[in-house]
Amino acid sequence: MIDPGFGRIFTDHMAVIRFSDSQGWHDAHIAARQPVPIDPASSVLHYAQEIFEGMKAYRLADGGTALFRPEQNARRFQDSARRLAMPELPETLFLESVERLVDADRDWIPAGPDGALYLRPFMFASEVFLGVKPAAEYLYMVIASSVGAYWKGGAKPVSIWVSQHYTRAAAGGTGAAKCGGNYAASLLAQKEAIAQGCDQVVFLDAVERRWVEELGGMNVFLVFADGTLQTPALTGTILPGITRDSLLTLARDLGLTVREEPYAIDQWRADAKSGRLVEAFACGTAAVVTPIGRVAAPEGSFTIGDGASGPVTRRLHEALVAIQRGAAPDPHGWLRRI
Ligand code: PMP
Repeated sequence: MIDPGFGRIFTDHMAVIRFSDSQGWHDAHIAARQPVPIDPASSVLHYAQEIFEGMKAYRLADGGTALFRPEQNARRFQDSARRLAMPELPETLFLESVERLVDADRDWIPAGPDGALYLRPFMFASEVFLGVKPAAEYLYMVIASSVGAYWKGGAKPVSIWVSQHYTRAAAGGTGAAKCGGNYAASLLAQKEAIAQGCDQVVFLDAVERRWVEELGGMNVFLVFADGTLQTPALTGTILPGITRDSLLTLARDLGLTVREEPYAIDQWRADAKSGRLVEAFACGTAAVVTPIGRVAAPEGSFTIGDGASGPVTRRLHEALVAIQRGAAPDPHGWLRRI
């Protein structure tokens, strides 16, 4: 089969649930995938009340199908809703909608080691009203996409551009929510990264422009020569990644010491130069675990280790994928079979 790439091939169905202040959650159903009529005054088009999730259904080694930690996505979706003054979809409705869609479209999971069904639950303000207030009507939907490897050309180390001018999130803002607006705001920085010959952008904190936060769509991990790992703490400006959380657990299972602490960009440069830092990687549902080879900034660029994928990165990647694919025991009960 031709590699489907990421996010271009969609399945036959979609899940729908409506919400209105007067009726609450209602009309949950699976429908044929089709365009959604939208009034030009729908408030999402003006004030961006929109949130989403990203998760995958995998084909398991024994032929079954499973979601990976979908309860975490359900909870994060509720957290995002609260931050955007939207109604919180009950966890059971979230899980049922995703499971029913996977059940209808499970034949769309591509074969191959990277094949999965990427699920995109999302919700937007559909009320026809131009007042600036939380909308009284919302549409929640789930669509699904057959995906292969995220990166064209395989999982080579990525290069990242340190955005000095643009930031992603400030304290008190929406950085920990998965709302479309965060991504719109990140695109210019990502464009700058590409113009600088890099693959991805890494954001620093909005106050000191010193502390490493995350990439546009992935969390960051650092691996030191003493065998310890570090990832920036969840301070409210970083998205609490489910891959991040899973890797923290797997690293501890493997006996590694992990720290959730701030890490300064100057320290990153110094540690890469001194050899204290030996590996770095980015992680997220879409691209799983991706080594970071080179970090570029206006003051010059530096390479981590020999710029290739390192053994700790590989070990964690393999441990995670083995659980997701049902090829290893699942001691934490992360798989939810459908
Ligand atoms: N950070 C951002 C900004 C993201 O969009 C994502 C993808 N959801 C992540 C981190 C990784 O999160 P997860 O591991 O839950 O996919």
